[in-house]
Amino acid sequence: MAKPADTRTAGRKPVAKATRSAAETEKIRAALAARRDELRAEYDRTLSEITELQRDRLTDSAGDDQADTGTKTFEREQEISLANSILERSTQVERALERLDEGGYGWCERCGNPIPVERLAAFPSATLCVTCKQLEERR
Ligand SMILES: [Zn+2]
Repeated sequence: MAKPADTRTAGRKPVAKATRSAAETEKIRAALAARRDELRAEYDRTLSEITELQRDRLTDSAGDDQADTGTKTFEREQEISLANSILERSTQVERALERLDEGGYGWCERCGNPIPVERLAAFPSATLCVTCKQLEERR
């Protein structure tokens, strides 16, 4: 199985972990920061949408029967859970940034190899490299 990190013998001992270049770390930081800003903007947008929708629902509730009220409550819960999941993702990215500063971010939990920058940018919460992830999914 050819891995890009095969030239290195990292991963056997935690101490002998491969190092990531400062440029790479910067790239990850930039990607994470961009993702965090994106998620925050999305969260703000979702919140103001919820507020607006809720206002519409309240002003428009004169002729509501119980089913309407139920639907509206359900919709509101859906919107709030969407907002929460965006917030959760943005918190994950923030934690990733903290861990990056401490040097504990971006390493595969299984083999100890660095997770490629592109993968981290796409999935900030990734804790496994692609190879290990595929092995995991095959089980
Ligand atoms: Zn791995």
